[in-house]
Amino acid sequence: MIIDLSPILRGETSLIKIEYEMSDMPDVPDVTFTEGCKVTGQVENRAGYMTLSLHASLPYVSSCARCLEEVRGVFEADIDQPLAAKGVLSDEDTDDYILIENNSIDCDIPVSEAVILDFPSRLLCKEDCAGLCSSCGKNLNYEKCTCNKKEIDPRLEILAKLLDK
Ligand SMILES: [Zn+2]
Ligand SMILES: [Zn+2]
Repeated sequence: MIIDLSPILRGETSLIKIEYEMSDMPDVPDVTFTEGCKVTGQVENRAGYMTLSLHASLPYVSSCARCLEEVRGVFEADIDQPLAAKGVLSDEDTDDYILIENNSIDCDIPVSEAVILDFPSRLLCKEDCAGLCSSCGKNLNYEKCTCNKKEIDPRLEILAKLLDK
């Protein structure tokens, strides 16, 4: 969402509140965003130093990396970045700032960045998920299996024999 900063740039106010729902989210592999991302926050001008503070809250559905059961959660991100007019910064500084263009900023950009950078790459249904048995495929959170954990994969056994020769 484009936020018009004209009132703050003209000095008419020192605070602009932001609240919207962002629906166009970046792709995260194997994750479905069930609702839009709720974004709330503000742009504040403190003695000529402008900052954007946002909180983003994004519900998702995915599957556990160990047992493949459905995992539902809400990804939360806090964004706190200074603003600067485009053209006044040297190139190496621009990553730290959100650039003001045409008296406005695009809040979707830092929110997308937070999702891309901070969304967990591996989700678990619970911290100590026991996962699936690699031999019989049983979900070890619910049932025990009798497979011998040290059992060698038959394909590896053939390979081992070949290497022995
Ligand atoms: Zn699990
Ligand atoms: Zn098993």
